[in-house]
Amino acid sequence: MRILLVAPPGAGKGTQGALIANHFHVPHIATGDLLRDHVARRTELGLAVQECLDRGELVHDEIVLDMVRVELEKAKNQGRGYVLDGMPRNMPQARSIYQVARTLDMTADVVLHLVADDDELVRRLLARAALEHRSDDTEEVVRRRLAIYHDVTHPIVAWYDQRGILVAVDAMQPVDHVSRQILTALEAMRPLISLVPESARTSIDLTGLGEAFGER
Ligand code: AMP
Repeated sequence: MRILLVAPPGAGKGTQGALIANHFHVPHIATGDLLRDHVARRTELGLAVQECLDRGELVHDEIVLDMVRVELEKAKNQGRGYVLDGMPRNMPQARSIYQVARTLDMTADVVLHLVADDDELVRRLLARAALEHRSDDTEEVVRRRLAIYHDVTHPIVAWYDQRGILVAVDAMQPVDHVSRQILTALEAMRPLISLVPESARTSIDLTGLGEAFGER
């Protein structure tokens, strides 16, 4: 299973990404984690990107693309599946990652879009700030990250919708409900993925199904 995760900050993409990767036994490639690891180790790359991370701005596309290319090559050697969390963040990244994946014969089967509203996201991110002390979880930076998400990241969702590989999930529900919906949808798709050509795939919208999976 090859999955891209597109979500605003605070929607739970790290948690859900790890869970999906664990469920399908594939690597979880989280660009934010990879970058924060470089910052923590004070590598050359880490020092170059630290200010961008602190300010909640996007790191240069090429830096992230080079990092992710290496991870996708590793994933290919390990068995070809992956959960890519945090990339693409804009249209040029969406195009580049598609080209890289095509050369590796590893284009995404599914793009998972976590949907949540801004007030809830700000509330969650500020609560997380109190626990994790991430440098980019102050209110000002959180609002900048959300603005960037709306301006340049969210528009790529429509592109994946047109390509017919989008699954949208309501991320305002409790974490375990969100996970259950995601895994149910992905498990239902799993046997079909190898049978249906990319061109014939249709997108799925689960955002209205909250009640069917229990009360919020
Ligand atoms: P995340 O953990 O996904 O919320 O990412 C944290 C920060 O890492 C972002 O605010 C950006 O500064 C940087 N970052 C992560 N992924 C990307 C990406 N694909 N392109 C550019 N910057 C990124």
